Amino acid sequence: MLPQWRYVLDCSGLKPQPGGDYGDIEWFLISPGGLGVKNMGSWVSPNKIVIDSAWAGAVWLIQHEMLHHLMQGGADHPVTPFSFPCFLQVGQNLPLPEE
Ligand SMILES: [Zn+2]
Repeated sequence: MLPQWRYVLDCSGLKPQPGGDYGDIEWFLISPGGLGVKNMGSWVSPNKIVIDSAWAGAVWLIQHEMLHHLMQGGADHPVTPFSFPCFLQVGQNLPLPEE
């Protein structure tokens, strides 16, 4: 099993719902900025994950979207499990702005 998916399962304690397993994900890369200035990735119900190609190397972002998929639940970011214990909130992972 992909270790990044294993992490999302373990930190959330959730089990995949039907259609919500890793193998059900359809991945899409979009041109930089294609999701909007403040949007680096998006989960689209029930199984699509779209990633801004400029952020394709950000493992936390991939896992953030995987967690949406695992939860099968929209745009909400409940503190549990997103912030704690998974540490997958945007504000916990974005680099500090350059000066
Ligand atoms: Zn999100």
